[in-house]
Amino acid sequence: MPLQRFRAQVERVRDLTHDVREIELRLKEPPAIAFKAGQFVSFEVGRDALNRTIVRPYSIASPPSQGERVLLVLNLVPGGPGSTYLFSLRVGDETEFKGPTGAFYLREDPARDLLFVATGTGIAPLRSMLYTLSERGFARPVTLYWGLRSQRDLYYQDDLEALARAHPNFSFITTLSRPEDGWSGERGRVTPLVEARIASVQNLAVYLCGNEGMIKDVTAVLQKKGLCPIYREKYY
Ligand SMILES: Cc1cc2nc3c(=O)[nH]c(=O)nc-3n(C[C@H](O)[C@H](O)[C@H](O)COP(=O)(O)OP(=O)(O)OC[C@H]3O[C@@H](n4cnc5c(N)ncnc54)[C@H](O)[C@@H]3O)c2cc1C
Repeated sequence: MPLQRFRAQVERVRDLTHDVREIELRLKEPPAIAFKAGQFVSFEVGRDALNRTIVRPYSIASPPSQGERVLLVLNLVPGGPGSTYLFSLRVGDETEFKGPTGAFYLREDPARDLLFVATGTGIAPLRSMLYTLSERGFARPVTLYWGLRSQRDLYYQDDLEALARAHPNFSFITTLSRPEDGWSGERGRVTPLVEARIASVQNLAVYLCGNEGMIKDVTAVLQKKGLCPIYREKYY
């Protein structure tokens, strides 16, 4: 299916940390978007020195059930055209994007438990999947491992705790690679966590999103444990 072009208005902007922002877009034309949890949309964010259009993709962090809105979660990359453009948007501004697209979407596989692994804003498509699974009552166990740097980079912890309280089949661990003093939670990167805690990949489907290093390392760790579907979205 050809990509559709959407016009949208910024409805809400919320800083989640010192460099991560949530931007909620309300669709104007067409008034709703149909997508699969995990897919992304693309913004034309400027032109390069050769006058070519610069395009940047961003995952939809909201679930498909809220098709009249698109929630973005992104970090500011200083000097980066994509994140600088989106961080410049104010409530009421209009923007355009194309989509939805992407092969990183939640599969309908009722026979498998799910393992989600994210680094940084790689949580965005997994958030869409988690709220989709929540709407369905988390029929199978779902585990999320999320790697961030330090306490000041934490966000969505209360939301995830609320999900876990409401659904015994959902659990999550946030691990900090460089925690400051006073952190009593998990330390280190997500890869050793997967290595230590995932005993078997039988009946497991895995979704990885974030930086290339994590995706390569976690894939290698899982493949040593056996065969299972591994879906991957590399941000950089
Ligand atoms: C399918 C897909 C979906 C994506 N969805 C999201 C999303 O939901 N949220 C989000 O924050 N980003 C997302 N990204 C990354 C996003 O498209 C941009 O690459 C990112 O915002 C940086 O673009 P920029 O033009 O600001 O910086 P650029 O000038 O392109 O600089 C990129 C450099 O910044 C560094 N960097 C730091 N953080 C990131 C990051 N998050 N992503 C990429 N590079 C980073 C890397 O070193 C990278 O080489 C996605 C990427 C893909 C491929």
